[in-house]
Amino acid sequence: MDAHEVNGMRAMLALFVADVFASVPRKDQFLKRNQAFAANVDLARLAMPERLPLVLVCADPRVEPAGFLGIGTGEAGVLRNTGGWMDGRVIEDIVYLAVRLGVRTDVAIVHHTQCGTGLLADPAFRRSFADRTRGDDAERAVTDPAATVRRDVEKLLADPLMTREVLASVSGYVLRLGTGLVETAAEPVAPASR
Ligand SMILES: [Zn+2]
Repeated sequence: MDAHEVNGMRAMLALFVADVFASVPRKDQFLKRNQAFAANVDLARLAMPERLPLVLVCADPRVEPAGFLGIGTGEAGVLRNTGGWMDGRVIEDIVYLAVRLGVRTDVAIVHHTQCGTGLLADPAFRRSFADRTRGDDAERAVTDPAATVRRDVEKLLADPLMTREVLASVSGYVLRLGTGLVETAAEPVAPASR
């Protein structure tokens, strides 16, 4: 490739990058949307449901629950981390929300296809990732979302903090990015009485 061709490719790449960024709203656009929202909603007066739907989902911006589930303000709590992984911190958050708000929770765990955490299944990626973070996270890889979501449902049910006052039910779902559709992987189940 000669210098002329390299410059041509650079120009094409610059156009592509400019195009991608043009489609992502900037911070001032988000703040403008906030002003329109605030003019129509009184957050302080929203009633709290007796049973709170609580969705645990990946932080991937494509799997935004306001989008694929149409969740509106005040309708559900949303907990997010990479993968939508059930860990100790999420369990603490569920207990905190239930106790603080005085509600029982219906937890829905959603894992999705083509999840970036699937890279964690690759030992070389995991080693380089572990060097930058705290440890080895192989367990966090979502490569078979139906299997990992069922595992996380069982994990929550087995946790001693999940009394019937905290958890009304837990269920598991798979969001398929190819179709945008959600499939049930684990029907809602209540914890054993504690
Ligand atoms: Zn993901």
